Amino acid sequence: MTAPSRAQYLLRFDDLCPTMSRAGWERFVPLLRRYEIKPILAVVPANADPDLMVDATDDGFWEEMCGWEKDGAEIGLHGYRHVCAARGRGLLPLHEQSEFAGVQEGLQREWIRAGLAILRAKELEPGIWVAPRHGFDLTTLRVLREEGLGVLSDGFADSPFDVSGVRWIPQQLWGPREKKQGVWTICLHANTATDAALAELAAFLEQYAGEFTSVKRVLAQWPGREQTRADRWFHAQMMGRIRIDRWRRAVRSVG
Ligand SMILES: [Zn+2]
Repeated sequence: MTAPSRAQYLLRFDDLCPTMSRAGWERFVPLLRRYEIKPILAVVPANADPDLMVDATDDGFWEEMCGWEKDGAEIGLHGYRHVCAARGRGLLPLHEQSEFAGVQEGLQREWIRAGLAILRAKELEPGIWVAPRHGFDLTTLRVLREEGLGVLSDGFADSPFDVSGVRWIPQQLWGPREKKQGVWTICLHANTATDAALAELAAFLEQYAGEFTSVKRVLAQWPGREQTRADRWFHAQMMGRIRIDRWRRAVRSVG
């Protein structure tokens, strides 16, 4: 298979766990079903983050995730406990604190192994790494590769690329935007998504549902390639834009 000429989109939901907001997640489900979307479902294996303890533990959560996986969704390993107490600088420095960036190798390995074991015990087969708060470093990449999880969802580029033997499927959007070509991952947080975000996604899907793809299709259609200077330029531009946006928001909230 070769890379498609038109832009392809992936939808990714973060922070899924048995205590997430049921209502928050369930309002997206009809849309996913209607358009047969095969999203990345980034699941926290052993959540200890109070922000993700919204509802009482849902006993049907794991079975529901198995159902989605059977229907073509890709289960993402979303960290281990989602406790973001590490202050190391990661490869994508979007937040000051994260769960993994800067943590010593032995601990990263322990957490990744434990996370994989929990998801597998629930009969899920996680095929992609999704770092909490985009926080991961070269140590994380080495551990992921050695633990057999050689794909991650993150990074700024217009198509997948490899770093340290791990395939990066880029994640550049936090809401739907029309693009001309490449692979674009839209990251959503069902726990906190607004009605406007839901409406925006519904309108986008109405027009572009046919261009939504799955992780397995992306891996089959896009060959591995090393990161290029163009990718680094894309990354630098995105980081610059994000910093300016944050600065503007900060100024507005002060003013
Ligand atoms: Zn998260």
